[in-house]
Amino acid sequence: MPRIAYVNGRYLAHRDATVHIEDRGYQFADGVYEVCEVAQGFIVDMTRHLDRLNRSLNELAIGWPLHRSALVTVMREVIRRNRVANGLVYLQVTRGVAPRDHAFPPAGTRPSLVVTAKKSDPVAAAAKAEGGVKVITVAENRWDRVDIKTVGLLPNVLAKQQAREKGAHEAWFVDAGGNVTEGASTNAWIVTRDGVLVTRPAEHGILRGITRTTVFDVARKHGLAIEERGFSVEEAWTAREAFITSATSIVMPVVAIDEHSVANGQPGSIAISLRAAFFDVAEKSPA
Ligand code: PMP
Repeated sequence: MPRIAYVNGRYLAHRDATVHIEDRGYQFADGVYEVCEVAQGFIVDMTRHLDRLNRSLNELAIGWPLHRSALVTVMREVIRRNRVANGLVYLQVTRGVAPRDHAFPPAGTRPSLVVTAKKSDPVAAAAKAEGGVKVITVAENRWDRVDIKTVGLLPNVLAKQQAREKGAHEAWFVDAGGNVTEGASTNAWIVTRDGVLVTRPAEHGILRGITRTTVFDVARKHGLAIEERGFSVEEAWTAREAFITSATSIVMPVVAIDEHSVANGQPGSIAISLRAAFFDVAEKSPA
């Protein structure tokens, strides 16, 4: 069955789905995106993802390409046409197509919208979580508006590639003060010896992950304490647990940071229980 993508009003075979060479996303990374998990036939935390999309668009003065309800219809249709019960739905909005000029294009230029969906294997994901993953650390080198979910991801791409080359799953950015900001495509957490969840505040310096927000809900429900503060790489080495969160990995235990194992080098019990409880707490919209 061929994969189908939505591009500016049309459902196309994936291999024929293209955007114009003067799309501002292609030329300037002048666009934003969202990724929602699809699990057991539901879109997970869709309201929060679309609220964040709205914020990203507003911060960059890009208009909505469709009404929100029409966008939801497109997301559902792409999921349906690709028969995705478990996987992800990806949406990308750019400032549209216009003759190349750094300044904004003329008023009335229509934003571009691409929506794709992809299957994933929940059994493989569960197996990965059972083993936990390794992360490496890299120097933070991104701009200071990483709170906006833009498609300008080159530092993240380079960091992730370094991780791959070192046999690791993720790279954690470390700021000039020695504190972890976040992963290349995940938020970073530790659990202290006292069982307190620690993650960096989301005012600036990181993307406010939707999974991060929902894990707060899960933790509150389970009576776990949370501290929003920075933590150093050294603190993470000696933490009781470490883990990462994102829509595609949910809660993924971290068992090693650079050459140091975290605790006994096994996935932590709190990370495992947060992962297990996540789906029950998250919002589930029928796909
Ligand atoms: N930080 C970065 C840099 C990311 O790219 C992502 C995933 N898009 C996240 C954090 C996690 O966000 P979410 O939980 O919304 O997937």
